[in-house]
Amino acid sequence: MKAIVVNPGQVDSIHMRDVPDPQMRPTQVAVRTLRVGLCATDAEINHGYFGTAPEGEPFLILGHENLGIVEDVGKKVKGFKTGDVVVSTVRRPCGVCPQCRAGEIDMCSSGQYTERGIKGRHGFMAEYYVEVPQFLHKMPKKVSGFAVLLEPMSIVEKGIDNVFRIQRRLTWRPDMAMVLGAGPIGLLATAVLRARGFRTVVIGRESPEDIRAQIAQQLGAKYISVASRPLLEVPKETGFPDVVVEATGSAQVVFDAMQILGANAVLCLLSVTGGKAMKPEPIDRLNTRLVLGNQVVFGSVNANARHFAMGVKDFVAIDRKWPGALDRLLNDRRPWDDYKTWFEHRGDAIKTTLEIG
Ligand code: BGC
Repeated sequence: MKAIVVNPGQVDSIHMRDVPDPQMRPTQVAVRTLRVGLCATDAEINHGYFGTAPEGEPFLILGHENLGIVEDVGKKVKGFKTGDVVVSTVRRPCGVCPQCRAGEIDMCSSGQYTERGIKGRHGFMAEYYVEVPQFLHKMPKKVSGFAVLLEPMSIVEKGIDNVFRIQRRLTWRPDMAMVLGAGPIGLLATAVLRARGFRTVVIGRESPEDIRAQIAQQLGAKYISVASRPLLEVPKETGFPDVVVEATGSAQVVFDAMQILGANAVLCLLSVTGGKAMKPEPIDRLNTRLVLGNQVVFGSVNANARHFAMGVKDFVAIDRKWPGALDRLLNDRRPWDDYKTWFEHRGDAIKTTLEIG
């Protein structure tokens, strides 16, 4: 079969090649890939910053945001049939740490986890893959048009679920949530926060006419552009948020966000920033605000099966409440042999997808 692969650690090594067809075991399902989503992690792997090939292999099949259709079902598999539309999870457990043993593979503490398309396991930019049912989520027909967003959605679900868990520390009566960044993660976070009933303010650099701002508004959020004013001044207009979800990919914004938190607020950090920047920050002010405000700043990566299941449920609820809003995120659909242009120049799309089958 054909696959898009990289030689991990080598700059710009992405290429399409023939690879052996995966062999399905009786405990597995064979899936034909329909579509993959592209994200910054894919670009960074192609830059050589991250990514490892499966043991003993020279290349890594890229791709972790996926959607596929079941083509064959192993004899020992129950609950799946040909034609089921599925999304696979990304991380696989290390098998040794207490978190992975309990199914909290997103919280792996040994660091020995693997991730499909990222770390030590082939991904989904291929015509087929095989997987055990434990790592597959069936998609209801009515949301399959945008279901390739389930993997990024799971990242958002985990972050927001952890916010609620953290806030069990007090009698929490939140009013306002702020989302920093109006990319796919920011807009999915907006949808989930709106579905949870938050008054939501989305902050982006794009103008209010941009499609990102329009989607935020369709979801019932207020959009504020910080193209010409500093984030630190926004709370004068909006009030101080009870929850902030950071999804800009800028470490500077992370530190600015710590200065706009309300009393007892939580700041959830979702973006990985690959650089090595050094900068002075108002450390006494930051510390004093965090302590006197009982504030929490936490990072969140990956997601486990529970968060994927929450994502499927929310997809149905969000699509019922704001029909078509999530479809609008997929505004750059390309045939998969056109992958190179995105890796050369990522362009202005919210979410680029490669159409495989
Ligand atoms: C993926 C996560 C993964 C993380 C770190 C992200 O792009 O969505 O599933 O855990 O990268 O590898």
